[in-house]
Amino acid sequence: MGILVVAEHRQGKIQDPTWEVLGKAGEVAVSAHTEVKAVLMGDAVSDLASELARYPVNEVLVVEDPRLKDYTPEGYGAALAALLEHEEAELVLTSHTATGYEFLPRVAADMDRPLVTAAMDVSLVDGLVVATRTGYNGKVAVEIAMEGGGPAFVTLRPATFTPPEPGPKRAPVTPVDVDLSALQIRREVQGYEKPESEDVDIAEADVVVTVGRGIKKKENIRLAEDLAAALGGVVGASRPIVDNGWLPRSRQVGSSGKTVAPKLYVACGVSGAMQHLTGMKGSQTIVAINIDPTAPIFSVAHYGAIGDLLEIIPSLLRELEKA
Ligand SMILES: Cc1cc2nc3c(=O)[nH]c(=O)nc-3n(C[C@H](O)[C@H](O)[C@H](O)COP(=O)(O)OP(=O)(O)OC[C@H]3O[C@@H](n4cnc5c(N)ncnc54)[C@H](O)[C@@H]3O)c2cc1C
Repeated sequence: MGILVVAEHRQGKIQDPTWEVLGKAGEVAVSAHTEVKAVLMGDAVSDLASELARYPVNEVLVVEDPRLKDYTPEGYGAALAALLEHEEAELVLTSHTATGYEFLPRVAADMDRPLVTAAMDVSLVDGLVVATRTGYNGKVAVEIAMEGGGPAFVTLRPATFTPPEPGPKRAPVTPVDVDLSALQIRREVQGYEKPESEDVDIAEADVVVTVGRGIKKKENIRLAEDLAAALGGVVGASRPIVDNGWLPRSRQVGSSGKTVAPKLYVACGVSGAMQHLTGMKGSQTIVAINIDPTAPIFSVAHYGAIGDLLEIIPSLLRELEKA
């Protein structure tokens, strides 16, 4: 028994959210006194298996088959289901990415086992898996307990957990033979294309300066842009700013936008609605500027400035110029 983490990889690279899932799995395993095994499915993936083995896992299980060369939901689903016939697990984790939330529900449904998607937290106590996710359009956080008797399946929200550091020890890498004779792949990957992006990726930035409705006018966004430039960061937005058409949708932080976890998050005139907090509360340092001392954003902020952002941002810029 223990925790299985299904690793995601593409074009010869382990995807970043997998490291975060391994970080969380490690934490859960320590408090539950259990093991973490990484599962790698693919074709000729020994290099990736060795890379995973440098991280804090007890074992790396490798399922190799030419039909698993590229990710497909039917390939990953069948291989994982077949692996679970041999490998007992209390909890199966993967990241809530476009692939993770495609293949994991398929396996959970086939096995008639519970699944929680886009979880913000997960724990394992005496065989009971408890996952936390938002409900009612992000207005409440719900804890869902899943009964034992087989694995519970959970996809974890990206940019929520800290990736582990590689350690000095190498975990054993074990090839696992599974019967995929009945597997029929109904799609063929022709190639990969990067989307043409004309905009910055706020999820990649170390510093995000976010504007909310307190910015009042589109023209005032320039202040946030100046602050972001002075701090080496980018500008993000709450949903009303995007709905107004003042910034593109790619800048929206929150449950219906992007999840970010930068080193520094500066929320300017953002009230801190649950749907917004979900997308940024994993940030390392949060600074809030808000005229209302009771604004919920202050419940997650490490530093706060209470006052008019139209005065506070210019004075911050003056101080930064001096520094
Ligand atoms: C299904 C669903 C999904 C959603 N998804 C998202 C999402 O992904 N991201 C998101 O952000 N929201 C989302 N929302 C909307 C969310 O509920 C809030 O309405 C939104 O986050 C509020 O944005 P805001 O903080 O900019 O505006 P407000 O809530 O209006 O807050 C403005 C803040 O600015 C402060 N302020 C005003 N003037 C000044 C000033 N001069 N100086 C300093 N502070 C000032 C005010 O005190 C206030 O706290 C979603 C809602 C739903 C129903």
